[in-house]
Amino acid sequence: MIRRHALQSGGSPAKTIVGWERFDDYPKPAEHEPLGINYVYDFDRKKLRVECPELDLVVVDLPIGKGVAEQISMSDGGDKLAGWPCWIQEPAYPYCPRCGELMQFVFQLTTDGHVPFMFGDQGIAYLFQCSQHPEVVAFEWQCH
Ligand SMILES: [Zn+2]
Repeated sequence: MIRRHALQSGGSPAKTIVGWERFDDYPKPAEHEPLGINYVYDFDRKKLRVECPELDLVVVDLPIGKGVAEQISMSDGGDKLAGWPCWIQEPAYPYCPRCGELMQFVFQLTTDGHVPFMFGDQGIAYLFQCSQHPEVVAFEWQCH
């Protein structure tokens, strides 16, 4: 099935960005493992071990089910420039069609945020750019 999403005829009124608010943003748990954080679950003991070999860091006997990964870091789910994508599903960085490199996250738009548009079922849209080919951008969205 293919879903088509289009703005109503005439689109929505233009808005101007009048300012930015700086804040810290971190990757969602789904990106922790590729970034070097490993979670080792001991379901019999209901304990969790978190390891980051690059930092020679090991934390043991954390309680399972207490949102440890979410407490380590989360991504903001609002409209934003830069930071980390707030993936609704699994991380899905696109590859540049020219050089094959993973593209970099640039911008995020949420359903009915500053842009009055619904990306699927309360979805979030992401804009990416190739670091080697700045004229190459990709747009994708995920929803629940
Ligand atoms: Zn490229």
